[in-house]
Amino acid sequence: MPEQPATALQDLDPAFIDPEPLDPELLGDGPSKGLRETTLLSRDVRLAGRPKLCSDCGLCDSFLKPEMARTCVFVRNQTEAIEQRLFGRNRQDGDELRFGIYRQMAIARMKPPVPGAQWSGMVTTLGARLLERGEVEAVITAATMPGARFAPRPILARTPDEVRASAGNKPALSPNLALLDEVRASGIKRLAFIGTSCQVQILRAAQPRLEAELGLERLDVIGIPCSDNVAYPDLVYFLDQVSKSPQTIVHYEFMQDYSLKMRHEDGQIEQLNFIDFPMDKLDGVFPSACLSCFDYPNSLADITIGYMGAPLGWQWVLARSARGEALLELLRPELEFQPASSAGDRSRGMPRYLQMLANPPGKPPKPIRMLIAWLQRNRGPRGLEFARAIIEMKLFRNLQHVRERFGRFEQRIVPASVYRSLAPYAEDYAATFGRPLTAATSAKHDEGDSGGNAPLGP
Ligand SMILES: Cc1cc2nc3c(=O)[nH]c(=O)nc-3n(C[C@H](O)[C@H](O)[C@H](O)COP(=O)(O)OP(=O)(O)OC[C@H]3O[C@@H](n4cnc5c(N)ncnc54)[C@H](O)[C@@H]3O)c2cc1C
Ligand code: SF4
Ligand code: SF4
Repeated sequence: MPEQPATALQDLDPAFIDPEPLDPELLGDGPSKGLRETTLLSRDVRLAGRPKLCSDCGLCDSFLKPEMARTCVFVRNQTEAIEQRLFGRNRQDGDELRFGIYRQMAIARMKPPVPGAQWSGMVTTLGARLLERGEVEAVITAATMPGARFAPRPILARTPDEVRASAGNKPALSPNLALLDEVRASGIKRLAFIGTSCQVQILRAAQPRLEAELGLERLDVIGIPCSDNVAYPDLVYFLDQVSKSPQTIVHYEFMQDYSLKMRHEDGQIEQLNFIDFPMDKLDGVFPSACLSCFDYPNSLADITIGYMGAPLGWQWVLARSARGEALLELLRPELEFQPASSAGDRSRGMPRYLQMLANPPGKPPKPIRMLIAWLQRNRGPRGLEFARAIIEMKLFRNLQHVRERFGRFEQRIVPASVYRSLAPYAEDYAATFGRPLTAATSAKHDEGDSGGNAPLGP
């Protein structure tokens, strides 16, 4: 296949706002706080007219902008209908409620790990293999903005080397779907997409139109789990708060041992336990979209490749569709595996977590924080139980965010599986928040609530 250079988002004409009117209830003052600020990828004008809940997925910068009201996950969550289309069924009780539908789960890593990758490099190796084998013509992935180590730059990669060069997290909102314009312009019919859960949800909602209009014949979706993303300026602010030397960080990750580990240019590792985070300074950093997001494990991808259900140093893989299983097979010769493991009991700590959500406690004194960090690391949920715990905690936190800030949106944007996942804690929830967990009665509770149009604030 002739090698073609990648197309970067900033090479394209900036897409301005389509004047098509939208249900006024969905329009607010603009997206969340973080998105109102100019980022390396975002000029404020791009964001004007978007709904209050927007993760800057890029769709509204593309020819599909008029489809926003029908496809955006923050306007209407369509997970169940899309699951039926992709997998022919909805989630079964048990782990699928939290992890999404899957056919195979694996704990694996590249052997040897890819230098410069976020974990072992499974994601970019897979994208590169698909191009090498001619199975797809292009891969949408997030490279790095020159001169800004952690600023994403979506690219339509046409060569394996371009995909490999996009390894590593750029943990900021990235408008990957804007490149659908370039997919259309290039006449691409076989595409792979690497992206976060909201991007994948919206891409899947738009997929029938892409197939009908562009003649898209193949779409391989490689999902990464995603939580608590931020706009780029807020990422810079966040790193300033948590690191002694933010400019020299070359890699960082929120680890399964309840700490943030930051690697610096000189190889030194700086570690900050979650319990030591300066939460008072982080208020308002996370966009409302990310606090209203209910798909941490990227459940509509063909294959999800993350880490949170795996021991340190390993990756957690969920092959969800027949295509996803074929993608795992493609990588298998280059992988080593170990059995999945699980330890601890998340259900014991959940009532206390709910109380902390309802009444956030102040920061405990240092010796108590040290004890809590030790207990989390040595007695807290580990392996798959860590993944279950952290997903359930995010579901609770985000459900509360929606109820408090966007109450009238709840029935449209919170999928039914959330209530099924959290049902074991329904009594604790009702006792803590004085209202039922379930959606139907909560809508009644919201009568007169102006949350849906309330201005956003910290
Ligand atoms: C904001 C964010 C939060 C995450 N949170 C979790 C989590 O809580 N639990 C978990 O298990 N995994 C999480 N991940 C995924 C995880 O950190 C790794 O990206 C994943 O395990 C793949 O590792 P790898 O070595 O195979 O990837 P690599 O081979 O290094 O490739 C990384 C891929 O991620 C893509 N990418 C990087 N930044 C972005 C971005 N901003 N938007 C879209 N795509 C991007 C790149 O394009 C590249 O294709 C998160 C990722 C991001 C970006
Ligand atoms: S999340 Fe995407 S589809 Fe939804 S409003 Fe923002 S850019 Fe548009
Ligand atoms: S946390 Fe959710 S909304 Fe925010 S970028 Fe990640 S997938 Fe998108």
